[in-house]
Amino acid sequence: MRYRVGVIGATGMVGQRFVRLLENHPWFRVTALCASPSSAGKTYEEAVKGRWAFDCPIPEYAKRITVTDAAQVEKVAAEVDFVFCAVSLPKSETRALEEAYARAEVPVVSNNSACRQLPDVPMMIPEINGGHAGVIAAQRRRLGTKRGFIAVKPNCSIQSYVPALTPLLGCGIQKISVCTYQAISGAGKTFARWPEMIDNVIPYIGGEEEKSEQEPLKVWGTLSPSGDEIISAAEPVISAQCLRVPVSDGHMAAVSVSFERKPSAEEMIAAWRQFRTEPERMGLPSAPSPFLQYFDEPDRPQTRLDRDFGGGMGVSIGRLREDRIFDWRFVCLSHNTLRGAAGGGVLTAEYLCAKGLIEAKE
Ligand code: NAP
Repeated sequence: MRYRVGVIGATGMVGQRFVRLLENHPWFRVTALCASPSSAGKTYEEAVKGRWAFDCPIPEYAKRITVTDAAQVEKVAAEVDFVFCAVSLPKSETRALEEAYARAEVPVVSNNSACRQLPDVPMMIPEINGGHAGVIAAQRRRLGTKRGFIAVKPNCSIQSYVPALTPLLGCGIQKISVCTYQAISGAGKTFARWPEMIDNVIPYIGGEEEKSEQEPLKVWGTLSPSGDEIISAAEPVISAQCLRVPVSDGHMAAVSVSFERKPSAEEMIAAWRQFRTEPERMGLPSAPSPFLQYFDEPDRPQTRLDRDFGGGMGVSIGRLREDRIFDWRFVCLSHNTLRGAAGGGVLTAEYLCAKGLIEAKE
């Protein structure tokens, strides 16, 4: 089965990643590329001229597609089975745009934060909480739709330490202190467009620490017995500091963690190395196998060496050692625009298609 796919925000950093990832996708075929009115009417090649973010060329299939104004919802809805969305707009406008597509019976797989905290919108890392897709039926009732809904991805900042901590939840995680070292592509930037980041660290990313502390609790939450909402986990308590560092791609996180029942180092490493996931078992095209890798070497993971592990979809962990305040500390790494954004979006869509929640219209 081939699904017709639209990308909203196709000219941006995450949108360009989608355009690359979808080039030879076995299930998905791009039929619409959408952006703001300033890009609309141009070919995709013209629209990204001077801001194509990669060394590789623009995929041939995309070059001559005419970019559509994302506000033309009915036109796009007729051309696609579902859309990915990654736009830079105020939250209220993003939510209105995403709900307009959902109400036009277009499923939306979103990278934006606008709908993340709505209780009937699943915030998905398919390896961790695929079951949250069960809330989509309730969301469809709220929106009055048959096909349309919104599923979101969590923020890129949490996607190295939440996967690393998930196999340890059974030990009763009580407290987490995390410091993230985040790449400039996470701000939609390259060094050419943000020279101030060369030889620099900026100790502030607006809104990032709040998301990093709250979003894991929704990811680790449960579907209510009625199936109407995701109930966020009440604990652990998380304290986050988020720094922008001079790295092109790849978010690193340094984690300290305390447990109700302190596991041994051997238990933790075995839990990481043995962690197998539902997307792996389902054989989804973008599922990394394994999802997690642990390094014994003391100087790994490193951003440049390890961000592309598992096609940029895997999470690398290392430097496990005792902590003088918490129980354990370690370091972990994920690719922010692949695992943390477009790649995670594609995997989420594959999961929703395989579960029959997104269907091709023809
Ligand atoms: P970006 O590079 O600034 O791209 C923004 C995109 O939004 C462009 O395609 C732009 O189109 C489009 N846009 C702006 N105004 C619009 C409008 N009125 N209608 C329709 N489209 C409009 O941003 P980004 O880094 O790709 O991030 C996009 C979203 O993904 C943000 O919500 C961000 O928080 C989230 N995200 C980013 C990352 C990451 O690692 N970068 C990770 C996770 C989540 P024009 O080119 O026509 O202006």
